[in-house]
Amino acid sequence: MQDAAQRILKDIFGYDSFRGRQEAIIQRVASGGDALVLMPTGGGKSLCFQVPALMRDGLAVVVSPLIALMDDQVATLDELGVAAVALNSTLSSDAQRDIADRIRRGEVKMLYLAPERLVQPRMLAFLQRLEIALFAIDEAHCVSQWGHDFRPEYLQLGQLAEYFPQVPRIALTATADMRTREEIINRLHLQDAERFLSSFDRPNIFYRIVPKEQPRKQLLGFLAARKGDAGIVYCLSRKKVDEVAAFLSAQGFPALPYHAGLPSELRAYHQKRFLNEEGLIMVATIAFGMGIDKPNVRFVAHLDLPKSLEAYYQETGRAGRDGLPADAWMAYGLQDVLLLKQMLNNSDGDERHKRIEQHKLDAMLALCEETRCRRQVLLGYFDEVLEKPCGHCDNCIDGVQTWDATEPARQALSAIYRSGQRYGVGHLVDLLLGRDNDKVRSLGHQHLSIFGVGKDRAEGDWRSLFRQLVARGLADVDLEGFGGLRLSESCRPLLRGEVQLELRRDLKPQQSAKASSSAASQLVRGEEREMWEALRTLRRKLAEEHAVPPYVIFPDATLLEMLRSKPGSLSEMAQVSGVGARKLERYGAAFLDVLGGKAEAPRVVTDMRHELVSLARAGMTPEQIANQLQCGTKSVYGMLAEAIGRQQLSLEQALDIPEALLGEVQDAFLSGDGELPTAAEVSALLSGRVEEGVLHCVRAALHAEFEGGLE
Ligand code: ADP
Ligand code: ZN
Repeated sequence: MQDAAQRILKDIFGYDSFRGRQEAIIQRVASGGDALVLMPTGGGKSLCFQVPALMRDGLAVVVSPLIALMDDQVATLDELGVAAVALNSTLSSDAQRDIADRIRRGEVKMLYLAPERLVQPRMLAFLQRLEIALFAIDEAHCVSQWGHDFRPEYLQLGQLAEYFPQVPRIALTATADMRTREEIINRLHLQDAERFLSSFDRPNIFYRIVPKEQPRKQLLGFLAARKGDAGIVYCLSRKKVDEVAAFLSAQGFPALPYHAGLPSELRAYHQKRFLNEEGLIMVATIAFGMGIDKPNVRFVAHLDLPKSLEAYYQETGRAGRDGLPADAWMAYGLQDVLLLKQMLNNSDGDERHKRIEQHKLDAMLALCEETRCRRQVLLGYFDEVLEKPCGHCDNCIDGVQTWDATEPARQALSAIYRSGQRYGVGHLVDLLLGRDNDKVRSLGHQHLSIFGVGKDRAEGDWRSLFRQLVARGLADVDLEGFGGLRLSESCRPLLRGEVQLELRRDLKPQQSAKASSSAASQLVRGEEREMWEALRTLRRKLAEEHAVPPYVIFPDATLLEMLRSKPGSLSEMAQVSGVGARKLERYGAAFLDVLGGKAEAPRVVTDMRHELVSLARAGMTPEQIANQLQCGTKSVYGMLAEAIGRQQLSLEQALDIPEALLGEVQDAFLSGDGELPTAAEVSALLSGRVEEGVLHCVRAALHAEFEGGLE
């Protein structure tokens, strides 16, 4: 049986060896036992039910909460030559009947279903007449009422145990905590399931948390080394999402917004583009998350603080599912703390609930101000012990300098106290620095004993100190007031001189930006770039032809291995991890051609066009696009006009010209009788006031509008 699993792994999936506990899980389920699998994102959960499904006779039924997840897996299996289908509400009843017929004839190996579908009496009866290989319940934490992904329909999946006592069931989740685990077992009746608990470490993710100073500039610094990488930038508010997306696009980083305030079609469209295109940045609220199975998300950046370590772990965990180097980067500042505390305070819910949330926030803050290895602390929070510092986080790499902050901390605390425990950090810092401004004067604060005692320290140092005092709970925020600081009970020993205070020294901004270029950007080295792009271009072309995301054709890891091992024949190609029999047959030759330098040039051109459309849709101006694609503005206008002609772009997406001027140009084109004048003719008409490239675009739009009827 071991051999059978191994053979399927190699022949179908193209992989050489199992990872972690995959093999044990597969043996358990293939031999008819139940299993509960707790494995982090990217750990390789899908194989745990896909391999036994192929080892056992009959139909494997997979429950999945989201259509997007199902479609993704079905497309992936399809590419591997495995007969898989998803039954969902978007299918016509004809299509559904057709699927049912194929299942009855035994032509389908894996059936993906939403839970509400599966538990319909008709569906259960239908399945009972068939041979069932296994049930897989993906995202099993959806059964937990305490989690944020709760799906009531999941509760009914417990019935499967009664209806199909002989069929093995495997439940899978990437949610780590103990309570959820117990709930899954109880509600899904998995008392006899063997539990497979993996480490929740994500070794390929590099963690970095920097103090927030000029967040956008810092973000650009972080992104500078990551041009062309796909990533997610999380922000707290919708407004900020929109602003940051526009800002990034203007800076030459194609970015799209995603939040609950956008129309659902637009949201779906943006999500689809994120999955299908490469190098796109999604700027999002936490509404963007589950169902994002894109494996090559190279970074997750937080411009605002998540409200708990659970959320931080989950959100950062969306980076690097493919196992290749990825970054989790966050800028955080005192404002974040104030905002989250305020939100917490204003939320409804009883005192106990608020207290729990407060503890969670405190744990998050502690991670931010941590001086030890971030990974050790993060995993420790989930009750996992990492013996040694990881060597792969900012604290491990940069080392953390601490300093004895006892005396300045006492000065800061007395500034809070002497000024009446009602002022924000700005004013408190002014007092310590002895700034003689209007506000200080009107309050008479220049007479306070602490006025000017902190002159020898820079403003930034004081701000950092206040932030750390609040993060450590030594000072509190007055939430009823206007975010003024108060002393908290726990600062007394410090004030009385009974304890010392060690704080972390913030890195200088340029230092933190420089050091943040971790491994991800070095994925492909300079001299490999050209071949890498050629491989990606071919992959994108194939993906478009097959109407699937590029990673379904081959994941980055496979492409990277091709790049490095340079297979020269089909048999060598078959050795590359991720190249199974079916894909070898379908794509092997095409990739060999590219590797052997035999691929023809025009592909690059179509690729450039594709890129251009994405960039224009992302809101870039023609000049920015020219910059990005490193070609002349003239040819950008030419390609924009073509794209408009093919109706891939609207005029508004392509150009940004004042409405009045646009009207004038359009009138000039339409002033003749019948035939559209050429751009050159109109240019003369307008005495060259408008760039000819613009005229080409307007003409193309008019032409498309009248479908050539004018010519
Ligand atoms: P999860 O569902 O746990 O987040 P996936 O099942 O999507 O993870 O697997 C993550 C990636 O790892 C996929 O690209 C998958 O093909 C790959 N993978 C899984 N198992 C193996 C293996 N044994 N060898 C190589 N790659 C694997
Ligand atoms: Zn570390």
